[in-house]
Amino acid sequence: MALIELRNIFKSYFLHGKRIDVLRDVSLDIEQGELVSLIGPSGAGKSTFLHVVGTLDAPAAGTMRFEGRQVFDMNDAELAELRNRSIGFVFQSHFLLPEFTAVENVAMPALVRRADRTRAFRDARELLDRMGLGARAEHRPGELSGGESQRVALARALVLKPTLLLADEPTGNLDPATGEQIHALLREVNRDLGVTAIVVTHNEELARSMPRQLRMRDGSVRPAHPELHGAAGEGGARPTTDAPTLPDGPTPGGPPGTDDDGG
Ligand code: ADP
Repeated sequence: MALIELRNIFKSYFLHGKRIDVLRDVSLDIEQGELVSLIGPSGAGKSTFLHVVGTLDAPAAGTMRFEGRQVFDMNDAELAELRNRSIGFVFQSHFLLPEFTAVENVAMPALVRRADRTRAFRDARELLDRMGLGARAEHRPGELSGGESQRVALARALVLKPTLLLADEPTGNLDPATGEQIHALLREVNRDLGVTAIVVTHNEELARSMPRQLRMRDGSVRPAHPELHGAAGEGGARPTTDAPTLPDGPTPGGPPGTDDDGG
């Protein structure tokens, strides 16, 4: 059983009266322990894809199983619990709380969940050490560089020991060398902590440093380098064995339902 099984995912937006089909029949498995990069031009739908996988956003159609459980059948409380327990997020901006120190920021998700305070701070310090920021634990975000702040954000995303880490352009605001540091840390936490990770990036070179590389294009998610993997897409968007689950048989470009987000 794969950690994540996406089947026939469709998602559209309406903007100025025009429908944009962002995800068109995406089916994909992500195995436990994988480290996956997702590349594609701006506006291709990478964030939308990550939001659906992270259960922040529901698709118009399609299913996702996470650790074997059907996700989009869950109610809001169950979804929030799944997110809190199993999924860590890192964004392009670090979103650290400026009035708290680095270690307080990292411990925050555990403290909010009323975890044991001593343990929360011990875990937070361990993660900051891993990020090479042990000496910065008592610094506030205003005293940290962009790369350091993003490393704190990565530590915060890991403090509840998520199964899955979703990173949306985590290096988008950083210079190339600092970006590579973040990717090196992502590879390290994937290897050492066993966290499965999907990392969105604009940077082809950073994307290639990940063992599995996907590309978003025309609403599909496919292997970034299909020529390296053969037509079947080994290592990329693998063929799935489950039958499509949609009774209405949507066609690409014609999803059965759409979200109207205004605009
Ligand atoms: P990427 O992350 O690859 O840059 P996004 O997933 O952010 O792409 O966006 C994909 C498309 O969907 C874009 O055309 C964007 O303008 C549109 N879009 C994203 N979010 C919304 C929204 N809430 N309302 C309307 N359109 C949206």
